[in-house]
Amino acid sequence: MASREVRPEPTQVQVREFRAGNGICGVMAGPCSVESEEQLMSAARAVKAAGATALRGGAFKPRTSPYSFQGMKEEGLKLLAAAREETGLAVVTEIMSTDDVELVAKYADVLQIGARNMQNYRLLEAVGNVDRAVLLKRGASATMDEFLLAAEYILNEGNENVMLCERGIRTFEDHTRFTLPLASVPYLHRKTHLPVIIDPSHGTGHTYMVPDMAVAAVAAGADGLIIEVHPDPENALSDGYQSLEFNQFQATMDRCRVVAEAL
Ligand code: PEP
Ligand code: MN
Repeated sequence: MASREVRPEPTQVQVREFRAGNGICGVMAGPCSVESEEQLMSAARAVKAAGATALRGGAFKPRTSPYSFQGMKEEGLKLLAAAREETGLAVVTEIMSTDDVELVAKYADVLQIGARNMQNYRLLEAVGNVDRAVLLKRGASATMDEFLLAAEYILNEGNENVMLCERGIRTFEDHTRFTLPLASVPYLHRKTHLPVIIDPSHGTGHTYMVPDMAVAAVAAGADGLIIEVHPDPENALSDGYQSLEFNQFQATMDRCRVVAEAL
């Protein structure tokens, strides 16, 4: 169902003012985790002013260590909904369990399936049955075939609003947190009609690399970007080392716009 052979025209996913696909590159931005009202609202206003049309923010966080901040859960979802109310930004947030589908769908516009859950097939089926767009992130060790078959689980349930997100894979290389293959964009465009989103934040793991890789992703034809932005990255409760400050995000968006217009 994801195949270009089945549907030759590119699919465009639209949620509120956010659009991705068929010539439109939509930008989702915001903190890795929702931490407080002040943190989220300031980030929402800043990313909106810079041109993002969706706000990202994790309320349920899949942390490597059980001792790390696990997210604000429903309180975080309420803050996301309040930020949408004020700014009009679509809300993108991760869903970690089938138990939380109803709860997260009540507050979010786009359900994010994280890399660690790309092959959680019951979760994929569950979001396939909800009237919400889905951002499916590639597993860090998943092949493209496995990635596309995971999307198939969602599409088969009748949900056609699926976006594929390349967020970097595990390789022998350790100068970056993950290795970000931008060749995924032309490859997936050849194989599928679904929008392809690039995550230069997790894909590099270093703030200083994020702007250049975001611009490169746009040049490669990405249908969207998801970027971590934080008012005070040094004191972020998760992923501060790969988050952009507001002015860095604004400058990145300005560069991306120049490239997008030249394509
Ligand atoms: C995230 O978006 O903050 C996240 C945890 O991403 P991934 O699932 O790609 O690691
Ligand atoms: Mn993160």
